[in-house]
Amino acid sequence: MTGVHRLLAPNPGPMTGPGTNTYLIVSGADCVVLDPGPKEESHRRAIVGAIGDLRLRAVVVTHTHPDHAPLAGSLAAELGVHTYGYAPGPEFSPSRRLRDGDRLRFGEAVLAAVHTPGHTTDHLCFRMGSTVFTGDHIIGGSTVLVQEMGDYFRSLDRIRALRPERLLPGHGDPIDDAADVIADYIAHRRDREAQILRAVRDGARTVRAVVQAVYGEVDPRLRPAAAGSALAHLRHLAGQGTITLEHGEGAGDEPARIEAVRDAVGT
Ligand SMILES: [Zn+2]
Repeated sequence: MTGVHRLLAPNPGPMTGPGTNTYLIVSGADCVVLDPGPKEESHRRAIVGAIGDLRLRAVVVTHTHPDHAPLAGSLAAELGVHTYGYAPGPEFSPSRRLRDGDRLRFGEAVLAAVHTPGHTTDHLCFRMGSTVFTGDHIIGGSTVLVQEMGDYFRSLDRIRALRPERLLPGHGDPIDDAADVIADYIAHRRDREAQILRAVRDGARTVRAVVQAVYGEVDPRLRPAAAGSALAHLRHLAGQGTITLEHGEGAGDEPARIEAVRDAVGT
């Protein structure tokens, strides 16, 4: 028998919703912990308590963001197993690196890594039968922050092609209408990109102006997130040749000036 238990980390917030979902995946007497979350003592105790007499085989992370991975190293060391992830990140470095298609077998279960760059370049989803653990690639009740938009579109297609029945996200509730939610995610990104292109064609010349035009008034706490997503769309549009991004002095990774490409108007 294989079962999945969700343990909610005590880190609710504007970027984490109700908190990070840690999953304890149990098959027979074996189990795997996926996304142990932040270093919070109460959460560590909850995970160890849920493992109980089961034999822990691995601690797996979807990506190295601070709300998903930092507890992994100490938890795995305490329980004598390896950590698995795509690549080292600022607060966590997996002791075993997974590549696309790698499989972890435990009990009767097989957890297959699916490289899904976009939210971060190091992001993995994990497929187990008709279920996909989606980390921050697809979450419950919200859209996600995207670092690389072209990759993100491809990674959404990738998960859609697996035809999962159930998505277990890194934040929010389980998703049982997987096909509809993935289609909504793709439609939302396409709409957003069209709005951003329109804003540039209408004269928005800076990321700030684009955010203002597309998102209107934004909760100040979410402003950097909105700017980050807008920038990811702008880079994607520039890659397609519909806009140009001019880089100036001292603006970090934000372009100094954004221009629509005239020949592309109407395409
Ligand atoms: Zn994340």
